[in-house]
Amino acid sequence: MRCPKCKTEDMGLTRGRYQYRESGLDYVWLVDWPIYTCTKCNVEMPTLPDTELVAMNVTRALVRQGTPLNGDEIVYLRKAMGLKVIELADALGVSRVTTSRWENNKTSIEPYYDFKLRMEAVDRLLPHERRAMREEVSSLLQRNYRLDREPKRIEPIDVRPQPLAAAEMQPTAAYL
Ligand SMILES: [Zn+2]
Repeated sequence: MRCPKCKTEDMGLTRGRYQYRESGLDYVWLVDWPIYTCTKCNVEMPTLPDTELVAMNVTRALVRQGTPLNGDEIVYLRKAMGLKVIELADALGVSRVTTSRWENNKTSIEPYYDFKLRMEAVDRLLPHERRAMREEVSSLLQRNYRLDREPKRIEPIDVRPQPLAAAEMQPTAAYL
C-alpha cells in the first residue's frame, strides 16, 4: 500500500479509532477499525466501512435520543434511507419546504413528525429489529422527550467492525 502523501510504500495495517466525518455527523467514530498508517508521515487511511453497518449503528443511537433530531441528523437518516427530500416529505405528510427547513435548522422538527421520522428510519434501516425498536422508541419518547433548544450533549456513536467484515480491506476512495 502506497502512501498518498509521501509516496512511500511503507504503510502498515493497524487498528485504531477514526473520526468518521464522512458520515456528515461529527460524533461518529470507527472503533477497533483497520487503518492503514504511513510509518514515515503518519497519514491515516481507514479501510472503507460498510455503509449499512454504519447506518444501523447510527440509526439505533439517533432514534433513542431524548431531544429533537437536528438538521444534520435528519439529513443523515434521509440519505441512509435512500430518500430524496420530496420523498421523505411525502412519507411524513409534510411539504418539501418544511422538510428543507428542518434540514437547514431553520425550524425545529415538531415532536409528532420527529416520532414519525424515527419510525420510518426503524422500519427501513433496522427491519430485523423493527418490532422491539418501535416499542422501545415509543416508550422512551413518551417518558423522556425534551424540547429544549440548548445544545445537546452528543454521546459518541461507536461503530465496530463485524467479526468477518475485514475480508474486503479497501481504503476509502476519499483518501486516494
Ligand atoms: Zn506517508
